[in-house]
Amino acid sequence: MAYKITLIPGDGVGPQIVEASRRVIDASGVPIDWEVVEAGEALIPQYGTPLPQYVLDSIRKNRVALKGPLTTPVGKGFRSVNVTLRQELDLYANVRPAKNLPGVETRYSGVDLIIVRENTEDLYAGIEHRVGKNAAESIKIITREASTRIARFAFDLAKRQGRKRVTAVHKANIMKLSDGLFLECARQVAEEYPEITFDDMIVDAMCMKLVQTPELYDVLLLPNLYGDIISDLCAGLVGGLGVAPGANIGDDAAVFEPVHGSAPRHAGKNRVNPLATLLSGVLMLRHLNEMAAADRIMAAVIRVLEEKKSLTYDLGGSAGTSDMADAIIGAMNRG
Ligand code: NAD
Repeated sequence: MAYKITLIPGDGVGPQIVEASRRVIDASGVPIDWEVVEAGEALIPQYGTPLPQYVLDSIRKNRVALKGPLTTPVGKGFRSVNVTLRQELDLYANVRPAKNLPGVETRYSGVDLIIVRENTEDLYAGIEHRVGKNAAESIKIITREASTRIARFAFDLAKRQGRKRVTAVHKANIMKLSDGLFLECARQVAEEYPEITFDDMIVDAMCMKLVQTPELYDVLLLPNLYGDIISDLCAGLVGGLGVAPGANIGDDAAVFEPVHGSAPRHAGKNRVNPLATLLSGVLMLRHLNEMAAADRIMAAVIRVLEEKKSLTYDLGGSAGTSDMADAIIGAMNRG
């Protein structure tokens, strides 16, 4: 029986990278009945929002979605579409692996870490207001419930994947109450997993360590804002936003999407790298326990990366988005 999966093409470069990724996933042989739902800027005139209710309904029904990036209009009174989607569906864990890929040259080797970012609160709760004309306040929300839940998620993931260490990243030396609570919850959960080493690091020190010796780190557990920033840093360690996949996971639904945004200046040019979205699709296949199909796609991706013939501009080539997808499908068919 075919899986029913919500497919959101998204804004900007979204439709072309999502289409390229869909073709590769279909070629892997997994039977998927894609339910294509439109979201994004173009819908605002008709629905008054880039995220109409039917998008959330589709994901709630199918429980799994592959999503292109969505643009958040700046300064027009819209909350971030992506944050709203994560909060509405309670997709509390944002998982972003950063691993060196064969054939992608970077300054570093041996990087293989996973970022687990709390996805529902912190400064991302979006509670802010002006205080008079010349000041503004943003409220940072950290709760025991959300912190314990994400810590448990990180340790469970580490255990499932045979990883050895979880490092909580925080700024509890300054934000003693909010980050202090996050760290306290991580420490408590760590006691339930004696087989996994637990340590913690202040976020600024973590940035320095990550650009010096990223290969030493395994699973990083972070509150929302630090997770957002550190995950772009980690994407840079392994080849950039073009190869950085992500997953948003909750108890009732999971949405897989690239780390990058809609890159509007490249929209419609068949130019950007489809791998960040395709690798998010590979995470989706693993989530569905379709390991053979995921491995088949990864083997073909690695072949194309090592051959260096059909790469997009960010990887030093001149191939288009669809050419790269064709090359991956070709490599899969060659076996
Ligand atoms: P961006 O990630 O869209 O692009 C920044 C730059 O990174 C691009 O100009 C391009 O040079 C490079 N890049 C991005 N994706 C690439 C790819 N696949 N291949 C090669 N190069 C790539 O960041 P931005 O310009 O700050 O954001 C644009 C819009 O996207 C904003 O509206 C923002 O809110 C939104 N956004 C959405 C998501 C999401 O949907 N999850 C995430 C981040 C940003």
